[in-house]
Amino acid sequence: VSRFEGVSMAPADPILGVSEAFKRDNSDMKLNLGVGAYRTEELQPYVLEVVKKAEKKMLEAGENKEYLPIEGLAAFNKATAELLLGADNPVIKQQRVATVQGLSGTGSLRLGAAFIQRYFPGVKVLISSPTWGNHKNILNDAGVPWSEYRYFDPKTVGLDFEGMIADIKDAPNGSIILLHGCAHNPTGIDPTPEQWEKIADVCQEKDHMPFFDVAYQGFASGSLDDDASSVRRFVARGIELFVAQSYSKNLGLYAERIGAINVVVSSPEVATKVKSQLKRLARPMYSNPPVHGARIVANVVGDPTMFDEWRAEMQAMAGRIKTVRQRLYDELSTKDKSSKDWSFVLKQIGMFSFTGLNKAQSDNMTDKWHVYMTKDGRISLAGLNLAKCAFLADAIIDSFY
Ligand code: PLP
Repeated sequence: VSRFEGVSMAPADPILGVSEAFKRDNSDMKLNLGVGAYRTEELQPYVLEVVKKAEKKMLEAGENKEYLPIEGLAAFNKATAELLLGADNPVIKQQRVATVQGLSGTGSLRLGAAFIQRYFPGVKVLISSPTWGNHKNILNDAGVPWSEYRYFDPKTVGLDFEGMIADIKDAPNGSIILLHGCAHNPTGIDPTPEQWEKIADVCQEKDHMPFFDVAYQGFASGSLDDDASSVRRFVARGIELFVAQSYSKNLGLYAERIGAINVVVSSPEVATKVKSQLKRLARPMYSNPPVHGARIVANVVGDPTMFDEWRAEMQAMAGRIKTVRQRLYDELSTKDKSSKDWSFVLKQIGMFSFTGLNKAQSDNMTDKWHVYMTKDGRISLAGLNLAKCAFLADAIIDSFY
């Protein structure tokens, strides 16, 4: 007998489990549109040229492998806050930002959640319905209570803005509102600038604190500044907030686990204290973060030539996804003889398309067509190429009707 007899089998992860199932499939039709990872037109993983360049420079510099401080690489923390908020943002000059390097977006969210659990015990975090599946796991494991606000309207395949505002208004004063900075996952639907202003109005009215998850800066519009405008809007109003950042997608550093948690607060004294407590939370969890990805980001952002190269490569990635999106729409609207309006595919932004396929229809996509996707109907267009759009349109239409 094992002392582990009582351990039950954990369910497969709804996103990463899709990649595992994909690997087991021997069909040559198979297509993995599950995980949000960028692929080339040949459907191969892509390492950015600018990343290779930074790595070459790092190797030549003969960097050592000493431990980083608990808060991470100083040059990275400076670069990441400036990239998020804009280098000339007054909150940076006033030293009102506590930035700590995190284990990519997930680890940064987890650190933020641990901070909330410790310093705002019992305060509820409101998350969008739907949201990235891991948000719930992160909050649950950190012991942070959460509930949902309406976000997606299946009737319009758009934003349920009225519902969203009503639910945020309904939440107890001083709640924490988790917002996707840009390229909402899984829906690909973002509030407009006017809607962001209204959300900020309600946050101020209700003394709510936003917690932005910025996992796609630069990937939504192709512009780093435009994609951070939601966060900057709230910061400009003097609202205190959390921001988790990730370099998985925009620099393709998925496995390097590089990101940051930023807390923008009302004074430099508070920022210093908050940072000290974030470090205190990090120390017993993982001691200090990995250095490689942090050096890559610091090198790329800190060198004007490499920075420009990064922007060009990011625009090319975002551009390829847009081209595929257009082609998929064209195929769907020509192949589908019903009067269904597929224009939502074009309206959505970022890596994903939220197709509206339900669980049974998504199962059909996988079981019959070997198209791997999450069961909420989300497909990652970053894993699609032009050559496969017609095939995918056939699969979607077959599964819908
Ligand atoms: N937040 C959102 C909304 C995401 O979609 C992702 C990745 O898919 C992440 C955070 C975090 O990813 P990572 O931990 O790889 O940075």
